[in-house]
Amino acid sequence: MENAEIPDYPTKADLDEFDWDDCSKCSGDGLRDVGCADCQGTGVINSLEGDESDCNTCGGDGTVEEECDECDGTGKIKPSEDEEPTEEQIGDWQSEVEDATTIVDESPV
Ligand SMILES: [Zn+2]
Ligand SMILES: [Zn+2]
Repeated sequence: MENAEIPDYPTKADLDEFDWDDCSKCSGDGLRDVGCADCQGTGVINSLEGDESDCNTCGGDGTVEEECDECDGTGKIKPSEDEEPTEEQIGDWQSEVEDATTIVDESPV
């Protein structure tokens, strides 16, 4: 029997990016609200004259959005190579294996 091209057994790391788990740190947003450093989270800047004005850095919100360092702003966490594949992945893999072996069976010798 000819050697069939058996595809590698999948791991969860083979998943397409949109199937990755959401980052728990930013709930999948890729951004986190952090306190504005310029106004200490108050949203207001006090001038030397005692006037209050909206903080330009955060637009007066007191928070700024920062790229999540856990997921580099993607909102998704790449699964580990060690993680078991999903049932869907196994199903796809099994049909790929079947296709591969079927082609070999049908090919003329
Ligand atoms: Zn601010
Ligand atoms: Zn994140």
